[in-house]
Amino acid sequence: MQTALHIVATPIGNEGDLSPRALDVLRSAHIIAAEDTRRTGVLLKSHAIDAKLVAYHDHNEEQAAETVCAAIQRGEDAVLVCDAGTPAVSDPGYRLVRMAQDLGIAVVPVPGPCAAIVALSGSGIASDRFFFEGFLPAKPRARRDRIEALKVYPHSLIFYEAPHRFADTLLDMVDVFVGGREAALARELTKTYETIRRTSLAELLDWVNRDPDQQKGEIVLIVSPAKSDEQKLLSKEALLLLTTLAEYVPARKAAKLVSSVTGVKTSILYDIIVAQRNT
Ligand code: SAM
Repeated sequence: MQTALHIVATPIGNEGDLSPRALDVLRSAHIIAAEDTRRTGVLLKSHAIDAKLVAYHDHNEEQAAETVCAAIQRGEDAVLVCDAGTPAVSDPGYRLVRMAQDLGIAVVPVPGPCAAIVALSGSGIASDRFFFEGFLPAKPRARRDRIEALKVYPHSLIFYEAPHRFADTLLDMVDVFVGGREAALARELTKTYETIRRTSLAELLDWVNRDPDQQKGEIVLIVSPAKSDEQKLLSKEALLLLTTLAEYVPARKAAKLVSSVTGVKTSILYDIIVAQRNT
């Protein structure tokens, strides 16, 4: 039988999500390339799998890919896994796949959990078309520029985010995307504290500020497509009118007045006022 490089998805929390096929492939592997050999070692040990583990991460990708491909060419079966989820999705892997393909090695993906898709499927947000952004830049200026660039994208957006940056990212999104836009926070998926909450960006920000536990753990954020209403709000004058009015009359009244002038939904305008009061 021809040897191959298997790209195996592993659980993102719940160990029951390791598929029987993934387990079979891991059991018959001679060599397993893993992002963190200690972490994968725990998974293998729990299934009494005793294959040779090699480290494969951002800092040694090329050299490790050569090692893995050489092993396959010697007749060994190889597997690539990442810490959790699907390799090569916001994780190292595609360079190894390319090298194997270029050497004529068969590449066999073994599907399983991927946090982005798990989150999207449970979010209640339009999923027929979507854009996977993954991690935004860590630096505030670059992050904000990237959010600006995605502002009028007409399909759902999927972000991965680190817990310590989540509130700041939401704040930028409330500012740039407009607070009334719907979003879903999908946190700790498949784990004990799994939380999926769909509401407006402004309410999400308010909620995680009031309950910082909701910023902990692993997070996917799904943002609904830009609507024509939100695109109309690109006008700085409308925003200025809204914020100025809200200083003199109750928020609902200010939202209603600006809605009658701009045609933008009152609920969206109200959320913007709430979001600005939270910043
Ligand atoms: N390759 C992985 C996949 O397919 O899911 C993603 C790896 S990426 C380095 C890690 C990020 O995925 C986390 O920071 C988080 O945004 C998301 N993530 C992973 N596991 C998750 C979980 N159980 N719940 C929510 N998000 C998760």
